[in-house]
Amino acid sequence: MSDCIFCQIVAGQIPSSTVYEDEEVLAFLDITQVTKGHTLVIPKKHYRNMLEMDSEAASTLFARVPKIAQNLQKKLQAKGINIINNNEEAAGQTVFHTHVHLLPRFDNADGLKLTFETKEPDFAALAQLAQEVFLGE
Ligand code: AMP
Ligand code: ZN
Repeated sequence: MSDCIFCQIVAGQIPSSTVYEDEEVLAFLDITQVTKGHTLVIPKKHYRNMLEMDSEAASTLFARVPKIAQNLQKKLQAKGINIINNNEEAAGQTVFHTHVHLLPRFDNADGLKLTFETKEPDFAALAQLAQEVFLGE
């Protein structure tokens, strides 16, 4: 897609800091560097997000994630890594070409705050919801 900024990066039309590349996947440093080594892993083929990818396309992308993450952890001596993927505006997606964020973690003051609001478990509601969203064959 010519108006997609990540397609332009794939095509070499705008610069990026590549950390991994093969025929199908590219990984480059996120310009905002939320934490040191913040990397985006993308399929070279354009997909808006994970919600429009099939399992083959998703497998191709995710198959590369462990080795890129392990390399970042090793080279930067990160203590951990968050792997995040935002789909659609409501989920925080701002660039509409599928990408996986790899965020190396160092300590509590490394610039990233992820908080999950916890609630008391309601087991009856959980059972009902599981039935509602159950994915059968
Ligand atoms: P998201 O909010 O999940 O859609 O994330 C999009 C990410 O793309 C943001 O973290 C941006 O900092 C990053 N980004 C946008 N433009 C570029 C670019 N030209 N090179 C590298 N990263 C970019
Ligand atoms: Zn694109």
